[in-house]
Amino acid sequence: MSKEKISILVADNSLPGIEIIRSTLGNYDDMNYTIDTASSGKDALDKAAGNTFDLLLVNQDLPGAKGIKMIQEITKRKWGVPVIMIVAEGEEKIGVRAMDKGAYDYLTKEEVKTVALNRAIRRAMQRKKLESDIRESVKKLAKLAIRDGLTGLYNHRHFREVLKSEYKKAKRHLQPLSCIMIDLDYFKAVNDSYGHQFGDFVLTRSARILKRLVRDTDFVSRYGGEEFFIILPNTELQGAFILGERIRNVFENNDFTKEDISDRITVSAGISSTSDDNVVSDEDLITNADKALYCAKWRGRNNVCCFEEVESEETISLREEVKKIEDFHSRLERINENIKETCIESALNILLEIESGWDYINEHSVRVSRYAEKLTRELLLSKEEVNVVKRAAMLHDIGMVGINSDILRKKTGLTDKEYNLIKRHSGIGVKIIERTKLFQKELPIILHHHERFDGNGYPHKLKGDIIPYGARILAIAEAYDVMMSNTTYRNAGSAEDALAEIKGGAGSQFDPHMVNAFIKVIRNGVKA
Ligand code: GH3
Ligand code: MG
Ligand code: MG
Repeated sequence: MSKEKISILVADNSLPGIEIIRSTLGNYDDMNYTIDTASSGKDALDKAAGNTFDLLLVNQDLPGAKGIKMIQEITKRKWGVPVIMIVAEGEEKIGVRAMDKGAYDYLTKEEVKTVALNRAIRRAMQRKKLESDIRESVKKLAKLAIRDGLTGLYNHRHFREVLKSEYKKAKRHLQPLSCIMIDLDYFKAVNDSYGHQFGDFVLTRSARILKRLVRDTDFVSRYGGEEFFIILPNTELQGAFILGERIRNVFENNDFTKEDISDRITVSAGISSTSDDNVVSDEDLITNADKALYCAKWRGRNNVCCFEEVESEETISLREEVKKIEDFHSRLERINENIKETCIESALNILLEIESGWDYINEHSVRVSRYAEKLTRELLLSKEEVNVVKRAAMLHDIGMVGINSDILRKKTGLTDKEYNLIKRHSGIGVKIIERTKLFQKELPIILHHHERFDGNGYPHKLKGDIIPYGARILAIAEAYDVMMSNTTYRNAGSAEDALAEIKGGAGSQFDPHMVNAFIKVIRNGVKA
């Protein structure tokens, strides 16, 4: 077994005294004592300052500094090295005083010659070890008292203390101080879906991410369950926002993966700063960050909001009211759309029941609707406008039901009279449809889909921009389909022939701007 090494500094100016110590300690071969010497108080302090000795043996009568004074010095300097005082026979009182001043023990010169020396040194070593263990434990306890057990971040209590002192510091030095409050989004669902263990895993990982993203001088704490609070000393609002966004972004792109579970979890963050007008205490920084966080959640989560952006609560509740109304309205609109679609489907079915062999019109309507939709998208119409044009396209020829089917089936050219009868179909269509009161926006498109851009169309000879926008779209879509279909009055042509013909009609039959857009979408579609 290796011997325990103990290095001792003997502060004594009498050579015989030192020799006695050497020879006494030499008797203990289970210990490996190494001895260094100092012959004056100053010499001893200089040597001990290196702080490498395990123990000091100090003679009471040192020249340059009385032993007691030396002990006071050493205690003052907090070197933590044990000191044993050696006193003359009958001077035990000095030894006791030395212990009062911080010495571990004292021995008389006679005792130094006996086992008492070895015993005193061993006790001093044990005590030193005990003291150092206690110091460590106290440190650990202090750490535990300010840390959160799960994440290792500062706990709520310590966070409050830090915020208080940082707020005071910021005020004293006229420096900015900002805070970020973070809450994991939909965390309840994470626990519900994967269990609390995975939830805890996400919390510890989140803490690690936050620690990684902040500066050494920032304080990250666990504010509550899945809420974190970051204190940013000497940081302006803008800097806090940049960090908040960075955090949001990192979470948004991070997969939390443990064994076979993997999920993305976003965060919402609220930012407060001493630059906010209403901040007059550290508590205000928490209140403002909380309000800003609420605002970030309200905006839909995965969001960072600064307190200065937070609207008054009245505005928020007003907005919520408006949101509810809008939500209700859009749901009604969806129902309305469904009703319209069902109505169109039924109308086309009725058409088929009334007149067998009308499949062409139905199929033609579906195709025109598709061409029209493509063109509306190219022309960047809103979703609602697109739907109106599509529905108008589906219904545009419904008025054909009023036209004598012999005329419609005629293979040879039409007489003027017959053509005039056909021209009535858009007006008849409107009459049928307007009774439902469902298609008010579609009616003008249906009525005018045979107007020409140069004013020579029907039924009202409307010209240029006066023609409803949707009707101009339908005119092109319908013409193209007629050209491309194998109808009773012409054979199907190639797409390029049809487009050439449409182009030929730009400015006369069709809106020239729409013609260009239409050629583009059809060509793109053909390429794809
Ligand atoms: P929101 O987006 O509105 O924040 O939704 P949320 O589901 O996150 O709602 P809330 O903040 O109210 O829910 C917090 C949940 O966090 C409740 C609780 O189940 C969970 N939680 C809190 N502390 C812990 C914890 O230490 N471990 C685990 N696994 N879950 C926790
Ligand atoms: Mg929460
Ligand atoms: Mg939450």
